[in-house]
Amino acid sequence: MNKIYLDNAATTPLSPEVIDEMIDVMKFNYGNPSSTHSFGQQAKTLLEKTRREIADDLKVSPAEIIFTSCGTEANNMIIKSAVEHLGIERIITSPIEHKCVAESVLDMKKRRNVEVVYLRPNSEGDIELEKLEEALKSSDKKTLVSLMHANNEIGNVLDLEKAAKICKENGALFHSDTVQTVAHLDLDFSKIPVDFASCSAHKFHGPKGAGFAFIRKSSGLKAMIVGGPQERNLRAGTENVCGIAGLGKAMELSMRNLENYSAHIKEIKKYAVQEIKKAVPNVKFNGKSGTDESLYTILSVLLPFKNPLIGLQLDMKGVAVSQGSACSSGSPQPSMAMMLLLSENEMENSTPLRISFSHLNTKSDIDVLANALKEIAEGKV
Ligand code: PLP
Repeated sequence: MNKIYLDNAATTPLSPEVIDEMIDVMKFNYGNPSSTHSFGQQAKTLLEKTRREIADDLKVSPAEIIFTSCGTEANNMIIKSAVEHLGIERIITSPIEHKCVAESVLDMKKRRNVEVVYLRPNSEGDIELEKLEEALKSSDKKTLVSLMHANNEIGNVLDLEKAAKICKENGALFHSDTVQTVAHLDLDFSKIPVDFASCSAHKFHGPKGAGFAFIRKSSGLKAMIVGGPQERNLRAGTENVCGIAGLGKAMELSMRNLENYSAHIKEIKKYAVQEIKKAVPNVKFNGKSGTDESLYTILSVLLPFKNPLIGLQLDMKGVAVSQGSACSSGSPQPSMAMMLLLSENEMENSTPLRISFSHLNTKSDIDVLANALKEIAEGKV
């Protein structure tokens, strides 16, 4: 059976060029970047070259890119160090952040008594920036704002520049979980005054186990993992040179092909909306997902019937999608985003499904998906 992968917001297949690069590093560049001999210096050179290239893409200084093991680590580090080392007393966030942000915030509430203010999304899934401004003006406490750039479930995109400016004007630090947008959107942090951001290589055809935190130089953030002086004293531990090389190659390929890839994926998403509408009468799209205002890689569908087994049924037909985000899809509980966006009636009588695309998807993948959904909707399974 020809298997079709439409769960690219969970993870993406590795690019062949990334695999080649990583194999090359594993075979020929195995030194420890902290060693002073030539083997170590060869690894160090590759590490710093990769850091420079990533920094150039984001228009920041190389010293502001701190390699981590994943997006989860980057987000944990930023939120927890902001509280521990920068004296943050209050966090303004949303109830639809990724679990790694939500749990880091809760941890700081429990252990450090940080006040947490949640900005509820509106009926379209957007965080309203007037509410952010209101919340910022309502207290003199030292505040960190943590709002994701694009939601991993419904694809709604925050106006990062506007949000960052509001935070600056009101003296707050601003962290954005940019895991779903780095290498998918052209981010220029010389223009967007965000203080902290995060990245995960496996969301754009790089390896799992490699990511980075963007930490604005003047911020004063400190290490949460301590030990050696690696990563400018901000993240101890011998660097995952091969993973970082893969991250760098994946970023290079994504940025070089950004226009082509995004144009192709937008076309695929538009086609998917059209074909799913034909296949399943009365289908809806969650948040702004069905419009071109949402992130082009994500389509959140609301099927007008209850079918908790649909992920499994689609999988048996060779189509991999997600019944929520990867982190919550194994759980019987509906996600927070769905609980906030759907009516009680919709919660009881419909089924959310997340379809997410990469440049490798084709219209014929969508035909197979639409046909499978039609059969399931008509009870022919
Ligand atoms: N933030 C968002 C928005 C994500 O979608 C994910 C992954 O699903 C993460 C953070 C976590 O990234 P990682 O898998 O690298 O830990």
